[in-house]
Amino acid sequence: ALTHDSVAEWLTRFAATVRSVEPELTALDQQAGDGDFGANLATGMDGVRRALDALTAAPRSADDGPAAPLAAAARVFLDDVGGTSGPLFGLLFQELADALYDASPALPGTAALATGTAAGVAAIQRVGEADVGDKTMVDALVPAAKALAACPPTADPAAALHLAAVAAHQGARSTSGLRARRGRASYTGDHSRGVPDPGALAVALLFASANEEVT
Ligand code: ADP
Ligand code: MG
Ligand code: MG
Repeated sequence: ALTHDSVAEWLTRFAATVRSVEPELTALDQQAGDGDFGANLATGMDGVRRALDALTAAPRSADDGPAAPLAAAARVFLDDVGGTSGPLFGLLFQELADALYDASPALPGTAALATGTAAGVAAIQRVGEADVGDKTMVDALVPAAKALAACPPTADPAAALHLAAVAAHQGARSTSGLRARRGRASYTGDHSRGVPDPGALAVALLFASANEEVT
């Protein structure tokens, strides 16, 4: 089942991944955008790492569940991270945290991940108004949410998140053939064709970072 520590490790692992691929994310946003995505995400995840350290150092209450690390990440991204992507990742983390708060501790957490991801996509689409095919993180999140929803609620969260990562990665790869219709990348017109959307790739890396670390 998901625990406070396993979710914190998931986010820590994602932070390390983001640091190692920051130059690639920057290069993609330079080819089709304004070049700040890698820095926005890396700065945000550094802030999350610091917030998680503070959380671990604080006295833990007995009912401290898996939602707290995601809620901490949401606060960092909603309050401090710039770019279009900062608040949008904040909404995803917030909805995942809310779903895990509401979940029964008797269940492994897979259903809550499905609910939270679906609510995250809905919130991101309410704010950003992107549909599938507009070449944004939505192109990775929608297939990930579908993959999670298809898992039985009793499924192992690690297995469910692995399926979500595969689906998100496929969705992110599919953005290469698209022309951006949202965000700064839409200003570059056909230059965005042939380049995958960095926000969609980051979503795939987020789900992939959970693997092996969540049970
Ligand atoms: P900015 O475009 O403001 O510089 P970032 O570089 O931080 O923002 O983030 C770019 C990423 O944000 C894109 O790769 C895309 O995935 C995502 N994005 C941009 N606009 C939207 C939107 N309207 N809806 C969903 N995601 C979006
Ligand atoms: Mg940018
Ligand atoms: Mg920008």
